[in-house]
Amino acid sequence: MEEIAPLSAKKKGRGIVLFSGGLDSILACKVLQEQGVEVVALKFVTPFFGQAALKDPGAERSRAAGKYGIDLHVADISSEYIAMLRDPAHGYGRYFNPCLDCKILMVRLAVAMLPEFGAHFVATGEVIGQRPMSQRRDAMNIVERDAGAKGLLLRPLCAHHFPPTKAEKQGLVDRDRLLKLSGRGRKAQMSLAERFGIEDYPTPAGGCVLADPILSKRFRRLFRERSGITPNDCLLAQAGRHFHLPGGGWLVVGRNKEENRRIHSLACGGDLLLFPHQRPGPIALLRGGSGEDGAARAASVMARYMKCPEGSCRIRVAGPEGEKILEVVPIPDQELASLRE
Ligand code: SF4
Repeated sequence: MEEIAPLSAKKKGRGIVLFSGGLDSILACKVLQEQGVEVVALKFVTPFFGQAALKDPGAERSRAAGKYGIDLHVADISSEYIAMLRDPAHGYGRYFNPCLDCKILMVRLAVAMLPEFGAHFVATGEVIGQRPMSQRRDAMNIVERDAGAKGLLLRPLCAHHFPPTKAEKQGLVDRDRLLKLSGRGRKAQMSLAERFGIEDYPTPAGGCVLADPILSKRFRRLFRERSGITPNDCLLAQAGRHFHLPGGGWLVVGRNKEENRRIHSLACGGDLLLFPHQRPGPIALLRGGSGEDGAARAASVMARYMKCPEGSCRIRVAGPEGEKILEVVPIPDQELASLRE
């Protein structure tokens, strides 16, 4: 974790702002900074959102500092998130998105980090009424209650719709300089962005794959059928074509070079990797169920996506016990369809 500067005597409070990178979280930071409150922007990352920030957190920090004057910290909360996602207390949204429990978890983790950052409160860029479910008043109150954040959770963009927080009561934040936005319109946010000179920002709500109609089905099945789900499993679920083999194997076949690279990079102990032998074709990964039958069946599925002019294809199978070449015929269409997710 990066070094945190001591709280300056002249300034007011210090707050942790949950930072998605969307306009509202940027504005929440700016509204607080404008009145002299010190802001630590905290970007939580899971296999389902924010992954780009993990590739190079230093570059992400510099970008936020250079572009918005924001002190950004990145924290990977994958394990806590996966544990929550298995059985969220408030259930799922339309897809596999546990929006209420997602917010509760993030606020709870941020509250636990207050001492580490020398901060007094947690803030978000939420606006009451902006989203039909998770930004209703009752839902917002539930987040505060269930996250153990009573009096500690400030929403600078719509603070006047809620009672004053402890930081406001203690004069660490000037309530008069907080806002009273509400509803689905974006006009007020746009003009605030203009006032703060913010021109280039991502569109709202982009980037959470749990709310993706297709991927969410895959995650649901993964969580229903497998135990001990890892962050790597959740990333693997986001690449390639997926097949479930009779012996319990989970086969993922790349659809293009980028996916082949991705699938290769996600291989871990116990997995089998399948490569086309001496001819072009996809890369595939078999996780679980990797006995003789599993490997042969996986190879015949993969052969289905290769050109096999002589009727069969040779596939190199690499795993913890070494490598072997299998000669297989492509699996018939009907069988392929029965295995396909
Ligand atoms: S859309 Fe995804 S990131 Fe956003 S609140 Fe819902 S689950 Fe969390």
